[in-house]
Amino acid sequence: AYLDRFQGPHHIEVVCQWRATDVRYAPPGTSRGGPGYFPWAARQLARDPVLVVSKLTGLGPEASTDVENLRTGDDPGFVWIRVGPARRPTGLFGLTFDGPLSTEQPESYEPLIGFAGTMLAIVSRREEEARRREQHRVFESIARGEAVETVLEQVCRLRETGSPGQFCVAWLADDDGRLHPVDPKTSGVALDDFDPCPQDAPEAQTYRLPERKWGLRDAAASDDADPVGARFGAGAVDLIPLVNHSRDEVVGVLAVYDTSRLPLDPGEGAVGDWTELAASLASVAIERVTDLARLAHRATHDSLTGLANRESFLSALERAIADSGPVDRLVAVLYCDVDRFKEFNDRLGHAHGDRFLVAIGRLIEAQVRSPAVVARLGGDEFAIILEQLTDENDALVVAERIRTAVRTSSAAPGSVASVSIGVAVSGSAAEHAEGLLRDADIAMYQAKSSGRDRVEVFAERIRREAHARDRLGRELRVALESGDVDVHYQPMVDLRDGRLMGFEALARWRHPTRGFIPPSEFIPIAEAGGLIGALGERVLERALEVAGEWDGLDLHVNLSARQVDTVGLVEGLLDRVAASHVPVERVALEITESVLLSESAPTLENLGVLASSGVGLVLDDFGTGYASLTYLRRFPFRGIKVDRSFVSGIERSADDATIVSMVLALATSLGLEVIAEGVETVGQEERLREMGCRYVQGFRYSVPIPAQGVAALIDRHGQVDRKGPIEPFGSGGAAPI
Ligand code: C2E
Ligand code: CA
Ligand code: CA
Repeated sequence: AYLDRFQGPHHIEVVCQWRATDVRYAPPGTSRGGPGYFPWAARQLARDPVLVVSKLTGLGPEASTDVENLRTGDDPGFVWIRVGPARRPTGLFGLTFDGPLSTEQPESYEPLIGFAGTMLAIVSRREEEARRREQHRVFESIARGEAVETVLEQVCRLRETGSPGQFCVAWLADDDGRLHPVDPKTSGVALDDFDPCPQDAPEAQTYRLPERKWGLRDAAASDDADPVGARFGAGAVDLIPLVNHSRDEVVGVLAVYDTSRLPLDPGEGAVGDWTELAASLASVAIERVTDLARLAHRATHDSLTGLANRESFLSALERAIADSGPVDRLVAVLYCDVDRFKEFNDRLGHAHGDRFLVAIGRLIEAQVRSPAVVARLGGDEFAIILEQLTDENDALVVAERIRTAVRTSSAAPGSVASVSIGVAVSGSAAEHAEGLLRDADIAMYQAKSSGRDRVEVFAERIRREAHARDRLGRELRVALESGDVDVHYQPMVDLRDGRLMGFEALARWRHPTRGFIPPSEFIPIAEAGGLIGALGERVLERALEVAGEWDGLDLHVNLSARQVDTVGLVEGLLDRVAASHVPVERVALEITESVLLSESAPTLENLGVLASSGVGLVLDDFGTGYASLTYLRRFPFRGIKVDRSFVSGIERSADDATIVSMVLALATSLGLEVIAEGVETVGQEERLREMGCRYVQGFRYSVPIPAQGVAALIDRHGQVDRKGPIEPFGSGGAAPI
């Protein structure tokens, strides 16, 4: 008896055998049969679950080498029992008898059919494991940002795993929409000498299918018409389009070629599903690469006018300010707002409005000389950076020129267009890009309120604002000492049973006259004023005290980019953790992607120190940064927090939902914990649960609460074990702040 597995385009491989008598037979690991043996056998067994061959000659011409092996003098008989799905056998369980066999003796082989079933279960379990391994490899490659070809290669290997006699080749469309096969180095049939796009190769169009298509390959088709299929000796082919969903465009084709000439039918169960999975992974890989390029452009440009957008304007402005160096060179920002644009837009419609804005953008560009940066900040607002000025008046001259150009243009058909412009000029080296832009914005409002179609220069405000910031910085320093900076705790919840998983510590500043100041306001001040180290220590110290009372709950504490980027700050924090009652592995530090982007020497060093200290690292606000997946591989993260912006869109936006579920799949395959932030509704919770998200945090469960409320909350919710929607924690008394 022997177990054979169909393999390769033509062969049958002996997996194992049990020899009862001295029947000469091929040893395990060898391939049997000549060309076409496997397809022939597979076809036979696709028709009948049991094949009885009474004489060697019944094996057909394809079995010639088998016949050679078996010639023992007597003419043996065979029973072959199908292994694998009916329509697509993956192998056979065979019995060779030392004499001719007749179909009238079923009692001699029937009991063994059940045994074949068990063998099949073991084989398919192993194949399933192999597929999971391949799938994991694909996820990793996507996460690592590997080249599309590499990922596609792995995707093809994934599809081929456990599918004897089938070959998977990915085709990628070039810029002209012509498809080229990605050389499948793993298939055993190399395409490296394959002319990727011969003259008479199939029109790319023929593969540009909106739908999956499968069927027997046209036997009459010339090799030229289907060169890859011909190379594989394919009898059937299954073509599934690779779609870039965000652009709704077919970008390639995943082709599965089958050598057994059995119909390739996606409805045939597991194997069919893996084709679809492979295709969707391939699509994700392609989409990711193209989208990164597109995102990079979209991230820096305004789609309507092609001008810089706000983000790239601000970074250009930052650079300009940094480059301006000594005070004798000035940087100016002109903030330019179209007068009465809304009326114009409402009157003539959005199409005209858009065209009008494009025209204004052109007019402005024509009035400034490089290296000026012109941006559209949004709506009808434009901004210009002027560099290398020696005099504030130079900026005024340009602003006047723009104002006049717009006034005398015909940009607004049927009416006179005008703009109001605010001008702000850098004063001190400490000037912030945002600050300068805001000053120009304020000046623009002054221009509007004093009658529009004017240029106004910002003056006094700069000093006042700077003063206010300085004062807040001084007050923060005092607050840190007096204890006015405290910590609140927001629970993180395990969706599986509704139990608490831990708390995130969030800094709170109760200002003596202004009340609570949000961290978004005082963290930057702490960073700018060199207070972030002290603030971080203060928060950690308080939080560790409180968390010392917890049992089995995690404490998450935020680290700002500045903390990670400063030499020596991290050690102080770790010392505090070590000196506390909280086990180090119960502490996780949350850092944002911006930290990782810097890649400065202190950052890398500090991350190394943190990683080896035993505290967990969690990537915060995941998804808001750029190309963040790659970092997950480079640094030893314990988990990620999916940013609130995705969670809030999860019910409404298919895109957000897709992103979250993809992040979940990738994170799971990388062994990372996922916490969804900002969960506010039952609907969001339900969607996250469906997607397999384990941890959640948000106002739905509780707002951040003061230390006094934490123990009560743990009492109430630390032990609950409940399926289904989780009851809000806050209802028990925690009041929103
Ligand atoms: P984060 O780390 O993303 O913290 C989560 C923020 O989302 C918190 O704002 C929290 O109150 C808020 N939040 C939680 N659930 C919901 C929800 O369901 N809906 C909405 N709309 N918001 C929710 P918070 O406390 O104002 O903190 C803002 C940011 O300030 C934090 O964002 C963090 O980056 C920073 N921060 C806070 N405390 C510290 C600290 O001690 N050190 C450092 N370096 N940064 C801190
Ligand atoms: Ca956080
Ligand atoms: Ca966050």
